[in-house]
Amino acid sequence: MEPKTVTRFAPSPTGALHLGNARTALFSFLMARAAGGRFILRVEDTDRSRDSDEFIRSQLDDLAWLGLSWDAGPDREDGSGPYRQSERAAIYEDLYARLQQAGYSYPCYCTPVELDVARRAQLATGQPPRYAGTCRDLDAGARAAREAAGRPAALRFRVPESEDVAFDDLVRGPQSVSSASLGDFVVRRADGGAVFFFCNAVDDALMGVTHVLRGDDHLSNTPRQLLLLRALGLRAPHYGHLPLLMDASGAPLSKRRGSATVGDLRLRGYLSAAVGNYLLRLGHTGAPDGWVEAADFARCFDSHRLGRAPAHFDAAQLDHWQREAVQRLSPQQAVAWLGAELPADWVAEEQLALAGLLQSNLMFPADAGAWLPVLRGELAPLTAENRAVLARAGAGYFEAALAAYAASGADFAALTRELKARTGQQGKALFMPLRIALTGRHDGPELAALLPAIPPALVRARLGSAARIQ
Ligand code: GLU
Ligand code: ZN
Repeated sequence: MEPKTVTRFAPSPTGALHLGNARTALFSFLMARAAGGRFILRVEDTDRSRDSDEFIRSQLDDLAWLGLSWDAGPDREDGSGPYRQSERAAIYEDLYARLQQAGYSYPCYCTPVELDVARRAQLATGQPPRYAGTCRDLDAGARAAREAAGRPAALRFRVPESEDVAFDDLVRGPQSVSSASLGDFVVRRADGGAVFFFCNAVDDALMGVTHVLRGDDHLSNTPRQLLLLRALGLRAPHYGHLPLLMDASGAPLSKRRGSATVGDLRLRGYLSAAVGNYLLRLGHTGAPDGWVEAADFARCFDSHRLGRAPAHFDAAQLDHWQREAVQRLSPQQAVAWLGAELPADWVAEEQLALAGLLQSNLMFPADAGAWLPVLRGELAPLTAENRAVLARAGAGYFEAALAAYAASGADFAALTRELKARTGQQGKALFMPLRIALTGRHDGPELAALLPAIPPALVRARLGSAARIQ
């Protein structure tokens, strides 16, 4: 019987979470949730020089912001951790010992210079560079001599001579590599440090991970990881390799270049539901065309509908979902989202009214700045075109508007009824001069909603000055 689905996201905390990895994390999370399984978070912080606690915190924070929750992780330890690789050295040592006892690995005393010389020789004779096997069959005496000379030893995995290593990739289908092309590879560095794809493979197995979704930059690691796990008698997960997410120029979105990080998007005011709707469709065709609530993402996710074609980051698509997400904010959520853009001295009711009013016209909180003067301050200068509309309407129209406003107050329907009766205008000729006079522009929120938010003195002053335009 297949075990319950367990997926994981395994970030290296060498930078901020970028969009490509966020997609991998989201898909892994959804795969587990769709199957009623478990999702775990493992921090791959063996590369101490570049790792930082700050990046771990920020990546976890970004994942939580995206709506991901994990059943176990470095901040949520259970019996199967620890979930930080830097705390798992003893576990790895144990496995190295097992490999060695079973004859699956051997110490390699080659220095970097020796390895380089061998590699050049292979290249010169047209062979693909791989470990030449220098230390593979050293006898006990030769080993003892090198140990006595104090030569540091890496640990190499003994790759079977000729065997097809095959697996069925969840995204790319059947894959097969000849072990002869791999060469014996290092599993523990001479300084004692554990090698990435060793820790990565054994941790998946020890943590009971059943399905691994990851970037296809790891595809070439998989055959070696399968050989390792088999040698250790550990159960290998099903691997699925997602095409990398490219930027507009075709280069992979990389965490080290600091581009398109989730943190940047958050700072600019993107909503997590917008980013989620965007990522859900990036190389995955399971989602319907329209908006999907975050709570329904898992229902749409289908690991059989992951695409092999490279996905490109498309800012216009992301913005489409942002617009959708902004429309869906409740007034309370809109106030929180607009945050510091809303005048602090406005009372809560004013802030709520304002936020509700503005949200249908904004993409980002910073856009609110353009609308605040409409409600309290001075209007931006008119464009020539808008000025012409006011002049065409004429002083009579605005005098009628002033009289209508005196009768109707902020009741927009009553105001326009009255204005129509007085001027005989209708349609655009009835509404547009009013809008331009009151807001200084020809687009924006519903005038019916806007009107009550503008102080009456300002309404009268604006209609009055529009009447003077010729
Ligand atoms: N730490 C690896 C990375 O960030 C994880 C690879 C994997 O998911 O297996 O690329
Ligand atoms: Zn060697």
